[in-house]
Amino acid sequence: MAKENGSRKKSWYSWYFEFNLLYRILIGLLVGIVLGLTLREKILWVAPFGDLFVRLLKMIMMPIILSTLIVGASSVSPANLGKVGLRIIILYLFTSALAVAIGLGMGAVFRPSAELAGFAEAAGREAASPSLAQTILAIIPTSVAQGIVNETILAVIFFALIFGIGISFLRVSPDERLKHAGGVLYTFFDGIAEVMMLIVKGIMQYAPFGVLALVAVVLASNGPKVIGALGVVTAACFAGYALHIVLVYFGLVKFYGRLNLGRYLMEAKDPFITGFVTRSSNGTLPVTMEAADRLGVPKTIYSFSLPLGATINMDGTAIYQGVCATFIALSVWGHGFNLTQMGIIIITATLASIGTAGIPGAGAIMLLLVLDSVGLPVMSGSAVAGAYALILGIDALLDMGRTALNVTGDLTCTTIVAKQMKQIDMSKW
Ligand code: ASP
Repeated sequence: MAKENGSRKKSWYSWYFEFNLLYRILIGLLVGIVLGLTLREKILWVAPFGDLFVRLLKMIMMPIILSTLIVGASSVSPANLGKVGLRIIILYLFTSALAVAIGLGMGAVFRPSAELAGFAEAAGREAASPSLAQTILAIIPTSVAQGIVNETILAVIFFALIFGIGISFLRVSPDERLKHAGGVLYTFFDGIAEVMMLIVKGIMQYAPFGVLALVAVVLASNGPKVIGALGVVTAACFAGYALHIVLVYFGLVKFYGRLNLGRYLMEAKDPFITGFVTRSSNGTLPVTMEAADRLGVPKTIYSFSLPLGATINMDGTAIYQGVCATFIALSVWGHGFNLTQMGIIIITATLASIGTAGIPGAGAIMLLLVLDSVGLPVMSGSAVAGAYALILGIDALLDMGRTALNVTGDLTCTTIVAKQMKQIDMSKW
């Protein structure tokens, strides 16, 4: 933003936008902690500023998941759905589901909890949480509009996916009229998705104030003990990220793909580091593509699989969902998830990760959906909102790790599929 304004005269507030957002959010977090701890109930008046941030995130949740999913599904042309396309999609979904399970496992091991008190309403409606069979059946909506209105997330995901697949078929139709219609629809939803991403970027500019207000209120009512809980959440997420890299990625490269791990690491480090600092899978895409090229993956494969991966494959985000959902359940209910709820979270978080846009902070919006699916809706002033607020405070930090993993996952799956299909140039290894 600052660069675009370069030629124009700087306004008095331009320093705000020029200052790295990550630092601004961290400063918001620290100021919120200090104000909450020192002023206690005298700071509670800032609560509406925090609610405003959560409302903005909830507002964008449905439009962003709908548009991102439709664009993601319609970018897979049926021609690409040959062996390579199917393999890569299955591998993406499989690794994401494993990632959620690892996240839930880390939640169970680290047991992060803020034991939140002081909320007028305990919004964790555990009884409302549906059974696994009900959840699976509810994937097919009886009314699409109702799915969107009632925010039944799996139904929306299901419909968006088949709608996107429908568009992808239209786009390659031999009938010129249908082909044109498919192209128009694709451009339309692509435009909507881009607008949504712009809106998220705009909302994130407010994040430092939103985080400040949310964290101040939680700290004012719960004291310093919650800070330790955030440390545990961070440790659990990063332990999950590390475990996923070692078990899943190293396992796939070395044992499944029978490739040289050292050589792989040498190239994978570039997208990893770029993802870490940019917190955007989309932004890292050119670097991930170069790495795939240096690893001998043919352009025909990576030019399709990597943009698709940046849109639908989010292993780091999936781990984060598992850990954070457990943290919120423990903080609000006082206990973790039962097996059914874990199953629901694995399905929802895997599918939600497809709908996560590859931009900074998108995972936190998707967390709202995952929480909804197990009866932990984020409602203003509730304990769930308090716990979610704490997560938002450190989200930028967690996002660095999860994005690094998201892009590494894309590169790993792409390399493995190229090797499986015997299309990899082994002279580069
Ligand atoms: N920032 C992540 C990415 O670009 C998405 C997320 O927020 O989880 O991959």
